[in-house]
Amino acid sequence: MSKKSKPAAGSTVYFVPVPESSTPQDMAAAAVKLWERMKLDTIIADKSLVAIKQHFGEKNGQNFVPPAVAKAVGQRIRQAGGKPFLTDSNTLYNGMRANAVDHLELAREHGFSHETLGFPVIIADGLKGESQVTLDGPAKTLKHVFIAGAGYMADAAIILTHVTGHLAAGMGAAIKNVAMGFGGRAGKLQQHHAAKPIFKKDKCKVCGRCIKHCPVGAITMKDTAVLDQERCISCGECYAFCPHGAVGFDWSTTSTDLQHKMAEYCLAYHREKAGRVAYLNFITRVTKNCDCMATDEPRLPDLGVAGSFDPIAVDAASAALLDERHGRNVFSEYWPQLDHNTQLAYGQQIGLGSTQYELVRED
Ligand code: SF4
Ligand code: SF4
Repeated sequence: MSKKSKPAAGSTVYFVPVPESSTPQDMAAAAVKLWERMKLDTIIADKSLVAIKQHFGEKNGQNFVPPAVAKAVGQRIRQAGGKPFLTDSNTLYNGMRANAVDHLELAREHGFSHETLGFPVIIADGLKGESQVTLDGPAKTLKHVFIAGAGYMADAAIILTHVTGHLAAGMGAAIKNVAMGFGGRAGKLQQHHAAKPIFKKDKCKVCGRCIKHCPVGAITMKDTAVLDQERCISCGECYAFCPHGAVGFDWSTTSTDLQHKMAEYCLAYHREKAGRVAYLNFITRVTKNCDCMATDEPRLPDLGVAGSFDPIAVDAASAALLDERHGRNVFSEYWPQLDHNTQLAYGQQIGLGSTQYELVRED
């Protein structure tokens, strides 16, 4: 049974609810239901190479989309005649996802391996981020975009996204998963370029937590914490971990810039795949910070999984479903200084999708 709850306009978003403390099997069952409802068999050509794109979780992270989902989606790809592989790209910052060897080890620790899934796990941009393809920028901000090689070469893609808040974009969902996750190393640098932290001398308590968490050693301790602008890769970890509010960003310019670039990256990929990419958003274990942070922070009760062929519509619907459930604007409350709607509005403006959608709720 399905119920439509908005007047028909723009794109369609399907939503399958899950229990508030859902299991991996609940999420996998919801994904399979969406597969059938969205008729995803139709985007899988015989013997085509199909990317399942997701974040494998940062070291000690627990909230990522569980392996049972990728496994179930991979089985459906196989049944439709395609050849699935699970993929993500390396991070800019040091850590367990900075190169393919460590990244695959971490993936295996989190339950993502050929043995557990039944199909290969491939790092999309090579051993150290060297595999990327240069495309013309699809809109006005970026002249070129750099897409991770395996993401570009895939014949089709299923984007599995854990919906969260995000310290620089307000919300991290399908648009960000594609933009950063399928952005090559140069692409990630390009998107983050404008954002450098500001260290406030009067608030710094010289605790050193920022130094411990900075992945590239860009902070030193003089009388207070001091930034090396050249070395900083704008990952935002110092902001997330400073317990005294001594790290800030000029969000007004950097967040808008970042969100515009994210939308352009997503558009470049979306157009490249031309109808052979689908987006499944997991509105489960929602936290203030994204999976890269792996902090032990409170999680919202699980809602369900939303699916669409339109990355803007599925992200807009995910935020709206959260707001409806909690009676407040969840991402604005998490990040009051940011406007996460910027990525949606700008994305719509450049032709990525529509903020107007018809929501079809499955029982
Ligand atoms: S974490 Fe914050 S308070 Fe501690 S040293 Fe760094 S900037 Fe200063
Ligand atoms: S944003 Fe902060 S943690 Fe990240 S590289 Fe720059 S100084 Fe280091």
